[in-house]
Amino acid sequence: AKKEGLNQAVYYQESQQHINYSRQIVLENDLRSAIERDEFALYYQPQVNVRTKQIEGVEALLRWEHPEFGVVSPAEFIPILEDTDLIIPLGEVILIKACMQQMEWVKKGLPPVTVSVNISPVQFKPGIIINAVKKAIRKSGIKPQFLNLEITEGMLIHNVKETHCILTTLNEMGIRVAIDDFGTGYSSLSYLKQFPIKTIKIDRSFVKDIVMDNQDRAIVKAIIEMGKSLNMDLVAEGVENVQQVKVLKDEGCHFLQGFYFSKPMSNREVEQQLQRWIDLKESIKWE
Ligand code: C2E
Ligand code: MG
Ligand code: MG
Ligand code: MG
Repeated sequence: AKKEGLNQAVYYQESQQHINYSRQIVLENDLRSAIERDEFALYYQPQVNVRTKQIEGVEALLRWEHPEFGVVSPAEFIPILEDTDLIIPLGEVILIKACMQQMEWVKKGLPPVTVSVNISPVQFKPGIIINAVKKAIRKSGIKPQFLNLEITEGMLIHNVKETHCILTTLNEMGIRVAIDDFGTGYSSLSYLKQFPIKTIKIDRSFVKDIVMDNQDRAIVKAIIEMGKSLNMDLVAEGVENVQQVKVLKDEGCHFLQGFYFSKPMSNREVEQQLQRWIDLKESIKWE
């Protein structure tokens, strides 16, 4: 019976692999038309200021509503977009959309939020990213200081000269740059000092067990202290419960992002959240 079970397991694994493999092929084939059919949507996850408890930023996160599979995670399709360079035109559309959305909220009289956009290494070339950002600013009218680009550590060291050129140009334009998933990649700390980087996002793998695990807490504490001494903003990602909020607050983290506050939401839901906050403030004034 044991042997049979094992065989069954093997068989199951194989058929699973087959399913995953064909799913991958279907996704690859469908990506091009997905762009044309406008199946992509941007969702937004709030970033909350620890001190004011207000939503002061949102991170734009891409969603693909596949006609057959439903919502597909970017972890699954971004690599395909990168392999095919489709991320370059789509990345530009994402930047434009996110900036236009930010301006739409501003025009509706909602409190201005910073919008963070994830940038792929494939887009991170002077000719590509600078043009895309300029276009997004021109088309949307967003104030540059409300646009934040999230890049990863690896992108800093990949081509130092090119990176320096991109980051100084962005900085001169008034655009903010954040290091995403900080602590998981390779980066030389000296680059943090050399390059105009405004924000560090502490990876959620350190936040996950921060309440119980003293080593994780020590790492987070060290990142926060280093960031602060370099005059940077600190954002913790993946905050899921109030105990984590308390520890991160005690350690002096500035902004928190995670399911505890909110999942990534549609633009309408964000609007309602921001509106609710205004209503609350209005009511306080009348009390
Ligand atoms: P990221 O930039 O590190 O984004 C944070 C991810 O963590 C998001 O996953 C978000 O939904 C998830 N998350 C947020 N709060 C929590 C929490 O409390 N607990 C847990 N377990 N997870 C949380 P998502 O949306 O699936 O995105 C995955 C990655 O895909 C992103 O990681 C980013 O690297 C990439 N990505 C997403 N949108 C874009 C995009 O427009 N362009 C590019 N180039 N990459 C994108
Ligand atoms: Mg990010
Ligand atoms: Mg992240
Ligand atoms: Mg991440």
